[in-house]
Amino acid sequence: MNNSMFRLPEAYNEPIKTYVPGSPERQFLEQELDRQMGQEIQIPLIINGKAVHTAEKGKVRCPHDHEQVLATFSKAGDKEVRRVIEAALAAKPAWEEMPWQERASIFLKAADLISHKYTYLLNAATMLSQSKNVFQAEIDATCELVDFLRFNVQFMAEIYSNQPLSEKGFWNRIEYRPLEGFVFALTPFNFTAIAGNLCAAPAMMGNTVVWKPSFAAVLSGYYIMKILKEAGLPDGVINFTPGKGSDIGRIVLSDENLAGIHFTGSTKVFQALWQKVGENIATYKSFPRMVGETGGKDYIFMHSSADIEPVVTAAVRGAFEYQGQKCSACSRLYLPRSRWTEFKRKLEKDVMSIRTGSVLEYGNFVNSVIDENAFDTIDGFINRAETSDQTEIILGGNRDKSKGYFVEPTVILAHDPYYESMVEEIFGPVLTLYIYEDEDLENTLSILDNTSIYALTGAIFAQDRQAIIHIMTRLVHTAGNFYINDKPTGAVVGQQPFGGARKSGTNDKAGSPLNLARWISPRTIKETFL
Ligand code: NAD
Repeated sequence: MNNSMFRLPEAYNEPIKTYVPGSPERQFLEQELDRQMGQEIQIPLIINGKAVHTAEKGKVRCPHDHEQVLATFSKAGDKEVRRVIEAALAAKPAWEEMPWQERASIFLKAADLISHKYTYLLNAATMLSQSKNVFQAEIDATCELVDFLRFNVQFMAEIYSNQPLSEKGFWNRIEYRPLEGFVFALTPFNFTAIAGNLCAAPAMMGNTVVWKPSFAAVLSGYYIMKILKEAGLPDGVINFTPGKGSDIGRIVLSDENLAGIHFTGSTKVFQALWQKVGENIATYKSFPRMVGETGGKDYIFMHSSADIEPVVTAAVRGAFEYQGQKCSACSRLYLPRSRWTEFKRKLEKDVMSIRTGSVLEYGNFVNSVIDENAFDTIDGFINRAETSDQTEIILGGNRDKSKGYFVEPTVILAHDPYYESMVEEIFGPVLTLYIYEDEDLENTLSILDNTSIYALTGAIFAQDRQAIIHIMTRLVHTAGNFYINDKPTGAVVGQQPFGGARKSGTNDKAGSPLNLARWISPRTIKETFL
């Protein structure tokens, strides 16, 4: 019986476990790390809830120790991709008919399973296969994923409760239908939480999903699928399809039932997807929703009135946490000449105290970058900076891929504000500084504004309130997430809805009602009584 206005449990941010030595959580995590390192599991595709193994395989390796294999996974071929689409379409009628509070219950249960029963499973998989240290894994694979699930359920209910006015003699209603067709979720390597959310958000709104995870995050993705199944997600609602992006895309993007794309990844890939959708636009039954959160070239702008200590802390954490492999990572920093000497002294001290190495040693703040391609790209940027007459490498710069893909935190001083490492997304632990003359503030703000194609995150540091007001106004279009006296990373679901503009994406703010609204196609109903 469905005849109550149910009250949902109130969403709250998942508390962060500290993993201090001797704590029970540390002990449980270590057991789980040992367990996962002592096995090599087989990861199938999951089509309509069934495991499907294929002949073409890939390996999941530890980026910090590339000889260590954690799993072998199946890759989808054309036949499997077609089956996945069929499965998503077949599961749709029953799923969209399921009362919304029952769907809510499945995702709330998944949140609790991750928060309690499977926190060590997901954190360990994220540490080992994506090379995140324990603290980064905890805030991602447990806290952010749980937050997405809990808050989105609340936002879903808010959307559904939004109803139009009715005059006497009529009743106007809005029914929030899911999209007609299936949603294609393409997820990046760098956040387990984003991968889970890109599938779960459209599914929560009654859609069915073809999910293509990143090769580098297949292990954590596979465990998310198992958790969702245990939480009661019906077969076929989310279908797990590792495989080569362009091969899967070729079939999925030419299917007439494609109703939307939920993407997070690089700008170039999203542009290519959009282009394909444009070419096929007459094929589709509807106009596919395009939601993509993409690259960044995120900045800190320091004003001469700023306190030094917080700027340095923000720069170090913003640039080097998770090896700079966050879309929001601080990768360019503008400093006033009058504060340079003080800043440099403190920066040197902080950067030199950072330890780089395996995730298994908890004191290592910086771990490995994700794979050899990433290593080689970063290596190229550092190589060119070493030989350019426009730059000096003032800290770090060592790198070594013999055992794992390790790049030391590196700080480049650029004499040209348009030097390539001030402009392009590097996605590694490389921070570039540019020193501006204090009296050249206005011009430097213009340079900052037009340096990069991206507009994801940015931070200003100043104590002078007039300066804050002025800079914030001047930089209005440079960032979708803007911070005052704080680092430009670490957005929390429910508190700082996340997304950027320009070439950083469609800015649909993951983990907010704005994003969920993209996965519905409302039907307005007017009934006349007389
Ligand atoms: P990526 O673009 O290489 O891959 C993203 C997904 O697209 C993966 O699943 C990949 O396999 C797939 N893919 C790649 N080529 C494809 C193709 N031709 N057709 C179909 N699918 C294809 O990104 P990545 O390296 O996994 O992640 C890093 C990027 O993601 C960075 O640019 C980063 O800034 C961005 N990112 C953005 C946000 C945000 O919220 N704005 C968050 C996280 C990451």
